[in-house]
Amino acid sequence: MTKVEAVIDELVTANRILAREGIVDSFGHPSIRHPERPDRFFISRARAPDLIEAADIMETNLDGSPADKGDNRKPYLERFIHGAIFEARPEVNAVVHNHSPSVLPFGVTKKKLKPLHHMCGCIGHELPTWDSQTKFGDTSLLVSSMDMGRDLARLLGKRPAALMRGHGCVVAAKDIREAVYIAYYLELGAKLQMQAMQIGGDDVTYLSRGEVDTIIERTGPYSFNRAWENWCRRAGRKMLERPEELVELKG
Ligand SMILES: [Zn+2]
Repeated sequence: MTKVEAVIDELVTANRILAREGIVDSFGHPSIRHPERPDRFFISRARAPDLIEAADIMETNLDGSPADKGDNRKPYLERFIHGAIFEARPEVNAVVHNHSPSVLPFGVTKKKLKPLHHMCGCIGHELPTWDSQTKFGDTSLLVSSMDMGRDLARLLGKRPAALMRGHGCVVAAKDIREAVYIAYYLELGAKLQMQAMQIGGDDVTYLSRGEVDTIIERTGPYSFNRAWENWCRRAGRKMLERPEELVELKG
């Protein structure tokens, strides 16, 4: 298996896991930066994530055009989210965009989404909300151009995640296992925060800034791979050795 084949396999697995765990439904999508061409990324053609196979994965330029001009498969309209974040963040190698239900209320109210559970520290201190209305007025809310993608990427800044008003959220990470992990715990964190607010109103104790920093610092491949192995089993996917390890093995 080449490095690119391994990355494509990993992306298929990410789609299946996100679907199995309820982070995406028929909509939403993960992507991975091309391991040898940082100006390109891999993302599926427009299809429901639970159905995606290796043959559905498209190689895409950062501006959203297909790397192969002859590739006339229908891409996701919102591929610009991914391209714009990869363009703005050289350290980011994976992006997840989804509309999972518990995050939505935080994008349309003044209540800030903040971690209160140690597993959710990975989402960052407090999520900002991107509102397409501010710059683009009345739209379908879909990120349908690089202009919109870049505006969202600016709001995201160096953070791991941001909300999108009336739409969903976006996660950026250094690899796909971390991105899926954050997307999963973002949904769980939002659900827990709504439950805590139902009981305690504004009297909820969130993680301190120092706790969040400590959690992010100590969360690494040990945690991501442990979750990934479990989620692979649940999604009926074989867990791949790390793509970089495969390359080392091939010398
Ligand atoms: Zn969307």
